[in-house]
Amino acid sequence: VWRNCLDIIKDNVSLQSFKTWFEPIVPIRLKDSVLTIQVPSHFFYEWLEEHYIDLLKKVIKKEIGAEAKLEYSIIMDRNSNSKKAPYTVNLPTNDKKSLSNSPVSMPLNTEENHIKNPFIIPGLKKVSVDSNLNPTYSFDNFVEGDCNRLARSAGFAVANKPGGTAFNPLLIYGGVGLGKTHLAHAIGIGIKNQFPNKTVLYVSAEMFTRQFVDSIKNNTTNDFVNFYKLMDVLIVDDVQFFAGKEKTQDAFFYIFNHLHQTGKQIVLTSDKPPVEMKGVEQRLLSRFKWGLSADVQAPGLETRIAILQKKIYGNGLDLPEDVLEYLAYSINTNIREMEGALTSLIAQATLNKKSINIELAKKMIDKFVKNTAREISMDYIHKIVCDYFNLPIELLKSKTRKREVVQARQIAMFFAKKMTKWSLASIGAQCGGKDHATVLHACRTVNNLAETDKQFRGYLDDLEKKLAVN
Ligand code: ADP
Ligand code: MG
Repeated sequence: VWRNCLDIIKDNVSLQSFKTWFEPIVPIRLKDSVLTIQVPSHFFYEWLEEHYIDLLKKVIKKEIGAEAKLEYSIIMDRNSNSKKAPYTVNLPTNDKKSLSNSPVSMPLNTEENHIKNPFIIPGLKKVSVDSNLNPTYSFDNFVEGDCNRLARSAGFAVANKPGGTAFNPLLIYGGVGLGKTHLAHAIGIGIKNQFPNKTVLYVSAEMFTRQFVDSIKNNTTNDFVNFYKLMDVLIVDDVQFFAGKEKTQDAFFYIFNHLHQTGKQIVLTSDKPPVEMKGVEQRLLSRFKWGLSADVQAPGLETRIAILQKKIYGNGLDLPEDVLEYLAYSINTNIREMEGALTSLIAQATLNKKSINIELAKKMIDKFVKNTAREISMDYIHKIVCDYFNLPIELLKSKTRKREVVQARQIAMFFAKKMTKWSLASIGAQCGGKDHATVLHACRTVNNLAETDKQFRGYLDDLEKKLAVN
């Protein structure tokens, strides 16, 4: 029967189309007027439905009879395809588990389409797309702080109501290692947890670009675009990567419009705000700004400590508090670096079977951050001095003229002058708004006392050791 069908089809389509779209089809069975054909991929099926359905209908009715029906069976090629073409949709036919993991409804399956399309397509009820989400980057593992509050809560709102908030697209921007990728995944994970039927895809702009370029090479741009049009939620990380790539931007523009118009959620991240994205088309930039742009900034000390704590407890580890604090004080550039230092610290300790104490931590961390031109921070000096004299740190930054506070403040200034390249004015500003003369006076006072007072000298030596970088 299929041979006869093919003969008719051959006369009705170009040779090229016939070879591409009909030769690969394998007839599987004909039972009760239902013809089952096997097609190599989901796109293949979609393509047939879109371009050749009328022809197929006619031919099959002619060969089998008026009540003829067509059924597709799609080869499952999860493993072979996931590497080559990450945008391939897989249809898990036997795999119940992955079916329930991330099933999505095909548009074909809606009531409307059923009426329009007399063909039944069992087995096509669900397709699953690998969302590419990293489960460790969840909201639970994300520490909220002033630095990321807006971005986080907007992300949370989107996760609870994808496509249903004013934040579409949601653009999260900010410097390197400040949690953009983490948040992007968290949104995807949140949506998947609450709406398992939604098709969610996380993709880096780089990966998107690579897929697009491949699709041009392989003549499968239609597949590429159609795949992205299937998404309920599309998360694109680091869109600044699109800069200067016009063709990719065009494809993304088209996909963006389609998704946005159909109420699908779009989440974007970027290392800079839209106004600073050079090399990205204006029409795309203006769309980036349609929803909400929220920035993430470098976290303050408390947030840094909280992040380290979360990471440590999450891994079932424990660290002395002073080590943790030293880490958080020393590395304030970005979170990735701080985590890197923590990881190598733990690795060192495990390898050498040493327990992690502050000495080991200092050695490690200082080695770790040597290249990033680390400078001791005023916060850290304050902290060490206050701990030593048992004073609350707020007092040091206040205007109190209590003797012991004044002295501690002077000592902190003295060490700041000694251990950093900061100007007197800058040190004063960091010590409760004192002027440069006050700082100069402090340094002289401490020097004088050190020469005359042996006990005081001892304090300074202790403190210097505690503050020492090596
Ligand atoms: P970005 O994408 O902005 O460069 P990432 O999202 O990759 O940064 O974050 C770098 C690392 O820091 C990741 O391991 C991430 O889990 C961690 N991180 C960043 N922000 C937070 C946060 N607020 N809470 C917990 N971990 C965080
Ligand atoms: Mg990132």
